[in-house]
Amino acid sequence: MTAVDNVDLDEIDKFNELAHRWWDTDGDFKPLHDINPCRLSYIQEKADLASGPMLDVGCGGGILAESVARLGFDTTGIDMAEKALGVAKLHALESEVSVRYEASTAENFALSHAGQFRTVTCLEMLEHVTDYGETVKACAELAQPGGDLFFSTINRNPKAYVLLILGAEYVFNMLPRGTHEYSKFIKPSELAGAIRDAGLALQEIRGMSYNPVTRNAALNNNTSANYIVHAKKPA
Ligand code: SAH
Repeated sequence: MTAVDNVDLDEIDKFNELAHRWWDTDGDFKPLHDINPCRLSYIQEKADLASGPMLDVGCGGGILAESVARLGFDTTGIDMAEKALGVAKLHALESEVSVRYEASTAENFALSHAGQFRTVTCLEMLEHVTDYGETVKACAELAQPGGDLFFSTINRNPKAYVLLILGAEYVFNMLPRGTHEYSKFIKPSELAGAIRDAGLALQEIRGMSYNPVTRNAALNNNTSANYIVHAKKPA
């Protein structure tokens, strides 16, 4: 598979169409805004962002990338949705935060930036690509030896279907219909396999809960729906 094959163009279109809503904290991307402090503090707890540059793969409008750069850390974001990147660039400019943004897949970026990043994040993105194993491999290539990697996605089981598709998209209209495709959800055991195949060492898997009413997000031991994984590249 080439890097270009690993892009689902329908998915990219979807994110381009919604690009103008990216920074509306009460809009379509509200859940990403609400979970961001929780995932950022997890990343800071596990990785030393001061010790080298961070790359955010599938950064979209830059919710995570900008929050990291705002803390003063060297941050790059890549994504294939050019309109989302346009919004990310504009928002960083308005916020007077310095982030490098580039239109690229992880695979293409790895051709010219292998081994350059101390921390690589790829959050809520793997369930939108054609072959997540290839993305995980490219993220592994992009990381420095000894670097930290973070992946988050959604488990594939009836509970996740009810919560993330029926509930979020159809009952509560919290996410636009068609945001997620059930068959692309990834079981923790499958992601763990991809991480192992990429030569990374799995450190921890944590569940992530999100209450759309209180807008509260927290990490726990329940990986039945959203979850985040910390892995390390061997030194
Ligand atoms: N990681 C961000 C955005 C998640 S939405 C966050 O959590 O805040 C998923 C993003 O992945 C979208 O911006 C979409 O354009 C991007 N994406 C999907 N497939 C991609 C691919 N093959 N290469 C790069 N980006 C991709």
